[in-house]
Amino acid sequence: MTKTVFITGGSRGIGEAIVRLMAGKYNVAFTYHKSRERAEALEAELNSRFGGVLAIPCDVSDENSVRTAFAAARKRFLDVDVLVNNAGVAYSGLLSDMTADEWRGVMAVNLDGAFFAIKEALPYMLKKGEGCIINVSSIWGVDGASCEAAYSASKAALIGLTKALAKEVGPMGVRVNAVAPGAIDTDMMHCYTPAETSAFLAENVPLGRLGTPAEVAAGVEYLIDAGGFCNGTILTIAG
Ligand code: NAP
Repeated sequence: MTKTVFITGGSRGIGEAIVRLMAGKYNVAFTYHKSRERAEALEAELNSRFGGVLAIPCDVSDENSVRTAFAAARKRFLDVDVLVNNAGVAYSGLLSDMTADEWRGVMAVNLDGAFFAIKEALPYMLKKGEGCIINVSSIWGVDGASCEAAYSASKAALIGLTKALAKEVGPMGVRVNAVAPGAIDTDMMHCYTPAETSAFLAENVPLGRLGTPAEVAAGVEYLIDAGGFCNGTILTIAG
């Protein structure tokens, strides 16, 4: 029977690339938040080519919304074998200028969202004795970035979550891994000027270019399919 992958934030960027790579091999349930038209166009395109794709509205920072999204995925595809926690938001600015609401907003999407989705996905995976969870962290969760303290903290927390949960549920057959992408060419990077991006690449990226969403999706696919002995792995994809 075809397995099902649930991808949060599949409407754009890295999430869209993961949706595109998985379609045709898995049933794909993916969520969108604000980009409804894009998500529905992607769903229609991939359904006409492969079938088995469902776009679901969801705010991952809202536990009820995540619960409803999983119910929609289960109604269509029975249950979820693979979860990719990709939805995320960035915040750029001095920590001293950040309000508590802004801090909580970053944590709510990047960290709470992953927690809510894992809570929904795990019971079935544990019952089946098989499953795979991928968290999309960031190289800044490993190294930290100036003016990205909240974002870096949220992504470092995802790494801690990945390593701890891998130990907790690995004995029951569920693997938990993460990717830590570097600077990837998506809307999230477009808050930087070309000069800022060039300076960043010169200082931090020996390969001297931005990565592509497809290159991150390939890492996610490896951890799902070929990387059967990976558990608690943080796969850096950062040039
Ligand atoms: P992006 O192009 O800005 O896309 C963000 C995605 O997250 C969109 O699909 C968006 O959905 C979704 N999203 C945002 N807030 C949401 C919410 N409250 N509930 C549900 N979905 C929400 O970003 P990206 O670059 O593809 O980033 C994807 C992931 O990779 C993020 O976790 C990001 O932190 C991580 N990452 C990115 C980079 C990079 O350089 N781009 C590097 C390292 C890690 P809608 O558009 O439908 O609202």
